[in-house]
Amino acid sequence: MLTVRNLHVYYGAIHALKGVSLQVEEGEIVTLIGANGAGKTTTLHTLSGLLKPREGEILFQGQNIAGMAAQKIVALGLSQVPEGRRVFANMTVLENLELGAFLRKDAAGIKEDMEKVFVRFPRLQERIKQLAGTLSGGEQQMLAMGRALMSRPKLLLLDEPSMGLAPLLVKEIFSIIKEINAAGTTILLIEQNAHMALSIAQKAYVMETGKIVLSGPANELAQSEEVQKAYLGG
Ligand code: ATP
Repeated sequence: MLTVRNLHVYYGAIHALKGVSLQVEEGEIVTLIGANGAGKTTTLHTLSGLLKPREGEILFQGQNIAGMAAQKIVALGLSQVPEGRRVFANMTVLENLELGAFLRKDAAGIKEDMEKVFVRFPRLQERIKQLAGTLSGGEQQMLAMGRALMSRPKLLLLDEPSMGLAPLLVKEIFSIIKEINAAGTTILLIEQNAHMALSIAQKAYVMETGKIVLSGPANELAQSEEVQKAYLGG
């Protein structure tokens, strides 16, 4: 579904991605783990069109989307849930969800997806008229995920969904990610919580200073000495 080849991204003179390559097959959960500043968010932002690569290819369902406008990429079926959720604080839950569908014109499909979001996140339905800025951290994460689902993505990019959440909520968010995947959405997940990420992913990539340094089946990486030492506190 997604093939990334030799991606190079710069912030001015800073060479943030130094030849990143990765692959996501349809139906998978793939995780990208690594320390602070390794380049995980930069990778996601390049995939979603917020940053332009200087070099490299991003093939999404066979089409090269490298450097394409972000909203065109969303329209093709690739949506991002940004780090720190970034919900529209002064808009209601309902308005945030409606914005997720802003590129769509199929009113019946939008309504159907809104209902699905409410089944998946009953707490959002209870708070439909509440301003998003007054939701708890976990609820904002749910809203950000719901908003992304409103674009009916084929591939969902998640940037640190567990950040700042209490352990019980982290569990809840991860089980929802698994459900979203089981319902047919492919997932690329960035996480600092390597333990949780490796437990739900089929495949994993480890990133250090702008490069992929390790990759393989998630269960094998979870057993590897290097990963245990660096990311699992073992
Ligand atoms: P974290 O887990 O802390 O979010 P990350 O793996 O997502 O880290 P990035 O945010 O992608 O890492 O950052 C990769 C590198 O690019 C870092 O060295 C960072 O300082 C640098 N960087 C990120 N954004 C910018 C920017 N807007 N301008 C300059 N440098 C940046």
